[in-house]
Amino acid sequence: RPRVLSGIQPTAGSFHLGNYLGAVRQWVALQESHDAFYMVVDLHAITVPQDPAELRSNTRIAAAQLLAAGLDPERCTLFIQSHVPEHAQLGWVMNCLTGFGEASRMTQFKDKSAKQGADRTSVGLFTYPILQIADILLYQAHQVPVGEDQRQHIELTRDLAERFNSRYGDTFTMPAPYILKETAKIYDLQDPSAKMSKSAASPKGLINLLDEPKVSAKKVKSAVTDTDTVIRYDAENKPGVSNLLTIYSTLTGLSIPELEQKYEGKMYGALKTDLAEVMVDFVTPFRDRTQEYLDDPETLDAILAKGAEKARAVAAETLATTYDRLGFLPAK
Ligand code: ATP
Ligand code: MG
Repeated sequence: RPRVLSGIQPTAGSFHLGNYLGAVRQWVALQESHDAFYMVVDLHAITVPQDPAELRSNTRIAAAQLLAAGLDPERCTLFIQSHVPEHAQLGWVMNCLTGFGEASRMTQFKDKSAKQGADRTSVGLFTYPILQIADILLYQAHQVPVGEDQRQHIELTRDLAERFNSRYGDTFTMPAPYILKETAKIYDLQDPSAKMSKSAASPKGLINLLDEPKVSAKKVKSAVTDTDTVIRYDAENKPGVSNLLTIYSTLTGLSIPELEQKYEGKMYGALKTDLAEVMVDFVTPFRDRTQEYLDDPETLDAILAKGAEKARAVAAETLATTYDRLGFLPAK
């Protein structure tokens, strides 16, 4: 079985619809066909300041959402990044192999640091793609299911795997991004030129899966479309409507042409009203299941402990080989 590895940040509490459609949904499918490792990346979360109590609580909430989304601890390895110290250890090694200029070209960093201002930007935010390299290479992952925003980081990971392998001998599996075209990028409902993100300019364009369902329904109903009236998929000229069709299609399994036919001659209002209902039907059981896991923290923590143990077995082996190849004197 080919191996997959992916992670999600616990920073916002609730996952948003982009996280789910762009990443987590694929994670659930891939656990059937792949040897799957999924983690809540708390080390990445502290690249921006976090309140300790909130971080701890949000980490459990993230894990509960992953289980609610359908991850099965019997069929995949689900863990918390900081429970496996090898991430930070291999991260350092990768820091030393990455060029400063190379890291400076990462557009996610440029975007995020521009939003925050240079004075408030940590060195950790700058090197977070390098920690991500370690995350992936530790597990010898063949594929990395992510949204389009992560493609550049996977490319950098490939460069580093190749660099290490050619300098020190074959050590790391070459990973490939696994990005589904249809849901690679879910856009902000108020600004369909921007990706839906937890750091969105306005909360009105962001669907948080754990919000009251009626709040999400309202956001769908007030989504930005265009002055035209035709319900047709055209990402270039009709980004708002196209985004709604993508979401609708993925949540229901109806194809885009089927939806275009269903709404032929109808107004945007009809599409939005129906999608709002689809959204409520999706988030309501999702919230309930998440709450069930949160109501039983002992079971949740036991699942995570078992996951960390399975993850560490793999990570420790890769780190030991890496240290040996680098020429570190073994501890006796
Ligand atoms: P931030 O904007 O602070 O980076 P985020 O919303 O991207 O947060 P992450 O935890 O960084 O959340 O991302 C988790 C996964 O969700 C990643 O695989 C990422 O590619 C994917 N993802 C995030 N936003 C979207 C989106 N709008 N459309 C599709 N996939 C997305
Ligand atoms: Mg992100």
